[in-house]
Amino acid sequence: MNDRPILIRGGAVLSMDPSIGTLSRGDVRIEGSVIAGVGSHLNGADCEIIDAQGMIVMPGMIDGHKHTWQTIFRSTCGDDTLAGFFGEAVPATASVMTPDDVYASNLLGAVDALDAGITTIVDWCHITVSPMHTRAAVEGVKDSGARVWFAHGAPQPTWSDKTLEHPRDLAALQREDFAGDDGLVRLAMAARGPMFANLDVTKRDFEFARELGIPISVHVDMPGYDGEDVLRLHEMGVLGPDVTFLHGNTITDREISLAIDAGCSFVDSGQLDVMMGIGSPMTERLLRHGVKPGISADTPATNPTDMFWVMRGLMLLERARAFKPTFDANAQPEKSHMTAHQMVEFATMGGAKAVWLGDRIGSLSPGKIADVILVRVSDINTRPVNDIESTLVYCAHRGNVDTVLVNGNIVKRSGRMESVDVDRVLRLADAARDRVYEQAAKNGYVPEWRR
Ligand SMILES: [Zn+2]
Repeated sequence: MNDRPILIRGGAVLSMDPSIGTLSRGDVRIEGSVIAGVGSHLNGADCEIIDAQGMIVMPGMIDGHKHTWQTIFRSTCGDDTLAGFFGEAVPATASVMTPDDVYASNLLGAVDALDAGITTIVDWCHITVSPMHTRAAVEGVKDSGARVWFAHGAPQPTWSDKTLEHPRDLAALQREDFAGDDGLVRLAMAARGPMFANLDVTKRDFEFARELGIPISVHVDMPGYDGEDVLRLHEMGVLGPDVTFLHGNTITDREISLAIDAGCSFVDSGQLDVMMGIGSPMTERLLRHGVKPGISADTPATNPTDMFWVMRGLMLLERARAFKPTFDANAQPEKSHMTAHQMVEFATMGGAKAVWLGDRIGSLSPGKIADVILVRVSDINTRPVNDIESTLVYCAHRGNVDTVLVNGNIVKRSGRMESVDVDRVLRLADAARDRVYEQAAKNGYVPEWRR
């Protein structure tokens, strides 16, 4: 923890707090782990000063669903579908991962998030094939310095058996590794839900999460399954504000209404869903119901894991969907919809609610936790800066992320990660990747790019 308060001075402050708005030039004062003030010409006499000239100062972005353990498989499945990924690549590689490999992958994935200005991730972890693998995954994200929900899932190889309940060793993990559960890394359940478990099993899994007092993240309503998962969860009586839905490609209007009434949240990953052939984004249906979802990268094996890509990907897909009837009528639309402001909301406030921390993170508001990022907009790809939010969404990229604070601590400064030894992180990841593919090759699996 910093001894002195921090004053981030003279940046374009994109607070995402409606009562503060956007300041073309302003300051953010941080005391300990908390935002103490946002405004103009704040007193910094007692502070460590961070010069934010030429920067956007904004809340840390939030990734609502990331299979972090797949980071060492980065870009291996960009040319593939979900069916191909889980048909061949995952069984061949995940089955030979050691706890050390899982540690390396999770550490890299969480550091990757921080480096890109994402201060909170939901680590959707189903490489939980042994207690040692699970602990290694937890250690990996803990060593990164990121704010993480460790969403514990059933081991990947068991997902085809709908009769299996969520592993009960989750209770031991909570007792031993998450006592108090108020640190940077907290525990959630990555539930299989009705797509991957019977209804009575699903009900017991949800009850189990509630016995432990942990929130639930669940994939629902993807094409190729029974559908109406949210409806069935409603009929079971298990919806609640501790439940967040992922994907939701076939989700109906009625299901969205039921989920909203119960206080549930949504995380959109439409860019990944289209890339992997999972389904169409739920974005438009959510917007029609007034929902501001969180957004997510999902698997590093297919797509970039920064929110700049996710925001632009979702925007492009949504406009393509909306404009298609007009294009088909041999015309051009007269006006656009979906704005940069909406996309930033998804990456910040929407994400905060969807990861059960709406009152703690997601905006630069006095009293909230100091998860803050500075995005350099004095670069060739961003100048001259006109509209601040548009610059962020349409021009900036992760290479512009200059400084990142989590819990009031500086983890990245002047473009360089400080919370970890990056060379070590990369070395471990390379070694894990080599080990996994060498072992997989002994079992007869050699992906095309290694032949
Ligand atoms: Zn997922």
